[in-house]
Amino acid sequence: GRSMSGELKLEDSPVDEGLPSSHVMTLVSVAMPVYNEEAGIEAFHMELMRVVSQIDRDYAFEFIYVNDGSRDRSLEVLKGIAAEDSRVTVVDLSRNYGHQVAITAAIDRCVGDAVIVMDSDLQDPPAVIPELIEAWEAGADVAYAQRRSRQDSAIKKLTAYWYYRLLDVLSDTKIPADTGDFRLMSRRVVDALAEYREANRYIRGIVASLGYNQVAVPFDRAARVTGETAYTWRRMISLASDGVLGFSSKPLRLISRTGFVIAALSALIGLYAIFVRLFFPEVIVQGWAFLATGMFFLGGIQLVMLGIVGAYVGRIYTEVQRRPRYLLQSVYRAVNDDGTRHA
Ligand code: UDP
Ligand code: MG
Repeated sequence: GRSMSGELKLEDSPVDEGLPSSHVMTLVSVAMPVYNEEAGIEAFHMELMRVVSQIDRDYAFEFIYVNDGSRDRSLEVLKGIAAEDSRVTVVDLSRNYGHQVAITAAIDRCVGDAVIVMDSDLQDPPAVIPELIEAWEAGADVAYAQRRSRQDSAIKKLTAYWYYRLLDVLSDTKIPADTGDFRLMSRRVVDALAEYREANRYIRGIVASLGYNQVAVPFDRAARVTGETAYTWRRMISLASDGVLGFSSKPLRLISRTGFVIAALSALIGLYAIFVRLFFPEVIVQGWAFLATGMFFLGGIQLVMLGIVGAYVGRIYTEVQRRPRYLLQSVYRAVNDDGTRHA
């Protein structure tokens, strides 16, 4: 039985050994990051349960919510949800680590034969889940939900549109356009993903680079129902640069190319100066405006290039530190009064 409120109490264990991995039915894990979603998380969970109840004859489910240092009552709401349903695990991180790390923490705990990653703000509609599972049953290792449309601000749509096109030009792996982190991954993909230990993870890029059989499942991305996006400009730029820096060294090659172009340009200017000096000795070449702009231009270019090198050096720095990617505060899961767990 699954509905077991009353006979259950919440277990609060700082260290947790995970679910028993022996299961008869195919187990599907759903991994969800949560950050300041107190107003919407209950509606999300209800919708998730509605969709899951249509297929839970064929599949067993586990639900992993990761509370990513929310500053509102999200954790309390999640604990309430976990107390009602032993399939729900709430992982509480020690602070806010950001979307990609929260997803990583959630996936790390999943033991399912397939793992579905989705946002908990109803922008990734649970109704797509059966389609993802269908694609997986049909042989896909990765079924990624691809936006056919999205209800976001015009500026977000525009930046996202151009970002994915730019990423395609820059990166060496083909990262599918208009695709966030909403996807189903087979067990072997999840295990492969776990081998990628980099600190600044761009999960959608890593998964795309793994290969295997990957298929797109189109969907319409909804608007946020409550709350607001945690992706500020700064976070969007940092995610975007993780995508580029993690999957391409082309910006580094761009530096030497720019150097060659500017050097060629300077040769032309030199030739022009010699030409004027030889054939029009009466013309005095005036140059302070040219020199001033040229100086600032070159100074700017050099700093930008230094910044590109710096971005890669910064990544090397965080990688060699080998710090843990996240720390757990607690893990909550429903247990029986005698301390045993429901399978
Ligand atoms: N999120 C998170 N940690 C953060 C920011 C966001 O776990 O620091 C979660 C958030 O609760 C949501 C998902 O990640 O479920 C996507 O975040 P958001 O909706 O802000 O991004 P957007 O949909 O605007 O790209
Ligand atoms: Mg969202």
